[in-house]
Parts: sequence; structure tokens; C-alpha cells
Amino acid sequence: MDIRLRPHHGMCFQFYKGKGYSKKFTENMDDLLGRLSENNNTNITLTLSADSVCGSCPNNINGICKTEKKVSGYDRAVLEKCGFGEGQTIPYGEFISTVKSIILNKNLREEICGDCSWNEICK
Ligand code: SF4
Repeated sequence: MDIRLRPHHGMCFQFYKGKGYSKKFTENMDDLLGRLSENNNTNITLTLSADSVCGSCPNNINGICKTEKKVSGYDRAVLEKCGFGEGQTIPYGEFISTVKSIILNKNLREEICGDCSWNEICK
């Protein structure tokens, strides 16, 4: 299973409640999160381009997010705060727990992605 994740999706995953951009999007999210939660040791690779979530998103236009500038800013902020690197491969559980302890538990999320259209869901 080759799973690539944009770093900021490590925050989105922790607030996901079945809502999303389309039915295809939420079906893919449900499947992906289901597989990852079955095995926290699954390796994921951090990417700053379209990932395993974006693949089913209507905002993904030929591999480029419609809001690429904004979301890549979120990605870079998560990489920097968590000490991750682009292209790094790590176990999913380690990725999620690091994002949680360094960003979410310290209330730094809104500083990173407070202008996201889904912000209210993550409060
Ligand atoms: S294409 Fe953009 S809006 Fe869609 S999941 Fe990827 S980063 Fe998010």
C-alpha cells in the first residue's frame, strides 16, 4: 500500500467527521482512514504535492490543487513545526501523534490553517 500524505492532512484527519468536497472524496477518506487505523505502523510518505487524499478531490485539477498556494503553506508550516522533511517516510501512528502533540495540543492549528473553509469543524 503506497500512501502519500500532504503534511497538513495530518491535522485534517484528526477532525474528520465524514464531511468533504464530494461523495467520492468522503468514500476515499473513509477507506484510507479505515486502512490506516487498522495498522498504525503503515508507512506513509510526506509530499508537498497531490497525495492519496487529493486523488479523489474535485479541487484536484490535473494533479494541482485549486488552492495550491494556500495548502502548500499549511504543509510547509506542519513540516517546520514537527521537524519533518519533504519526502520523509514514517509510520502513520508516529506522524499523527507528532502532529497532535506539537500542533493540536498546543493550540497552534489555527495559526497554520485558520483561513481554511473547514475551520469551524476543527474548533
Ligand atoms: S486537492 Fe486541495 S482541497 Fe482537495 S484534498 Fe488536496 S489539498 Fe485538499
